[in-house]
Amino acid sequence: MDKVMLITGASRGIGAAIARLAAARGYALCLNYRERSEAAASLVEEIERQGGHAIAVAADVADEAQVVQLFERIDQAFGRLDVLVNNAGMLETQMRLEQMDAARLQRVFATNVIGSFLCAREAIKRLSTRHGGRGGAIVNLSSIAARIGAPNEYIDYAAAKGAIDSMTLGLAKEVAAEGIRVNAVRPGVIHTEIHASGGEPGRIERVKASVPMARGGLAEEVAEAILWLASEAASYTSGALLDVSGGR
Ligand code: NDP
Repeated sequence: MDKVMLITGASRGIGAAIARLAAARGYALCLNYRERSEAAASLVEEIERQGGHAIAVAADVADEAQVVQLFERIDQAFGRLDVLVNNAGMLETQMRLEQMDAARLQRVFATNVIGSFLCAREAIKRLSTRHGGRGGAIVNLSSIAARIGAPNEYIDYAAAKGAIDSMTLGLAKEVAAEGIRVNAVRPGVIHTEIHASGGEPGRIERVKASVPMARGGLAEEVAEAILWLASEAASYTSGALLDVSGGR
């Protein structure tokens, strides 16, 4: 049977690129999204047209009950799970820290941090040999913002990704003897809609001079790194934080 991969936030951007590459490599896919059901459905259609297998499941990863239901859908549809890609992430309008209210901080940490923790929890229950699973891989989407800090833009988002780095390091050790590898990819500036949600659709043009390769990256370039970490080719790699950032 095909290996099964759950990609959170797979309706567009990096998540959709991971889905296309994973389908081409033979994974059966659960594509999670939060709101954009049409985008998710059309990606499922595209994958199925090319001979792949995918389902789309709506769930807000920040909501514990919805995460539990998401994994139950995978149990019903596939009866197995091999890889979790914790890709769902968001940021809010650029501002300085002294302007940030608690509601914003809660939203940013809820999706980026709590969502990744909840999905990792449900994945481990299914993957860990301790729970009768066959092992597998978790790949987290961090960001180079975790080490740059994103001053004047979104320190909250950068700090949330810093938490993802720490989670990756700790969890990799916690489940290493249970057949699960846990790694993170830290993209630099990648051409997706996330910059528009920060209020600056043209952000890559402004910051690309600070990238040694002098360009933004493509979602497909990030997907390649994620598919490698998910695969058996990375069988001795766990707890790695892999920068995919044009040398930045
Ligand atoms: P996009 O804004 O293009 O897409 C975000 C995706 O996440 C969408 O599929 C969206 O679903 C989904 N999503 C957002 N919030 C939730 C939630 N609460 N529950 C479930 N799904 C959710 O983002 P990118 O593709 O750019 O980013 C993907 C990941 O990569 C994120 O973790 C991001 O932080 C990280 N990253 C991106 C960088 C970049 O430059 N693009 C740089 C570094 C890291 P819907 O369509 O339904 O709204």
